[in-house]
Amino acid sequence: MVTRVAFLGLGHMGLPMARNLVAAGYDVIGFDVVPAAVDAARAADIPIAESGIAAASDADVVLTMFPSGRHVIDAYENGLLAAARADTLFIDSSTIAVDEAQTAHELALAAGHRSIDAPVSGGVVGAENGTLAFMVGGSEEDFASALPLLEVMGRRIVHCGGPGLGQAAKVCNNMILAVSQIAVAEAFVLGERLGLTHQALYDVASNASGQCWALSTNCPVPGPVPTSPANRDYQPGFAGALMAKDLGLALQAIEGTGTDARMGRLAQELYAAFAAGDGASRDFSGIITDIREGTV
Ligand code: NAD
Repeated sequence: MVTRVAFLGLGHMGLPMARNLVAAGYDVIGFDVVPAAVDAARAADIPIAESGIAAASDADVVLTMFPSGRHVIDAYENGLLAAARADTLFIDSSTIAVDEAQTAHELALAAGHRSIDAPVSGGVVGAENGTLAFMVGGSEEDFASALPLLEVMGRRIVHCGGPGLGQAAKVCNNMILAVSQIAVAEAFVLGERLGLTHQALYDVASNASGQCWALSTNCPVPGPVPTSPANRDYQPGFAGALMAKDLGLALQAIEGTGTDARMGRLAQELYAAFAAGDGASRDFSGIITDIREGTV
């Protein structure tokens, strides 16, 4: 029997993810609250329901790809869980706080359903190419039943542990990424002032212990890595607004657990300032400009 998937939230990420499920033969029924997103989905041959509740009422799996945890919990509480058939698998792939993911999970279980958190990394390009990384929190059984579906949309799928731990992995990974992107940017600016060329620093650090994704893939200066956003005036890539959002969730987790994460806190502060201006729509590696100018 073909699995019927209610795909709710057909935005930048959701639309290409849903399209890949349709292409793989899943019986997808989509919905989005924004008419333009619905039109774009129809144009991509994704069948659309009258409402999210209508889509969920006749599905084996309900997959949500919403902007925030509030959207997920509101939708769960305001009809989705009540409308779904008993034992429906709820997969939330939105990036939300760890405690919100745990709340969503508890709500789903209390309503007689199964639930996993399965946030992603890889951005719109990964969503289009079906190469997302999924970080999953939930039981072994629910992970196993979601796996074939996630494999259509992603390439690296890791079961991180119980409910909320997919979001925990996402928040920790992005905190590493933010701190390392800032460190790489500071090193290039320092190198400039010491008379080092970008290429010389790149050639040394990318083959030494300073090697990291922020340097060797997302190099914040034009030249050494021709595909990095720095070569196209910092068009994203991964927009500053999204990094600032994820670091806000990291800060929530840092404070909730009383963790001494000073670098993470500082990265959150710097990216909040970056995203308050035009950094919101630039790649997050563009923070090097603000560091160079002393404006962040
Ligand atoms: P988006 O704003 O483009 O899409 C979210 C969609 O959800 C919107 O179209 C919105 O109308 C819809 N929506 C909200 N409430 C709804 C409801 N109750 N029912 C139906 N639709 C509803 O955002 P996006 O860029 O696609 O990101 C989605 C999630 O993925 C976010 O949590 C984001 O943090 C995460 N994420 C995004 C990226 C990226 O590069 N864009 C990368 C990784 C993770």
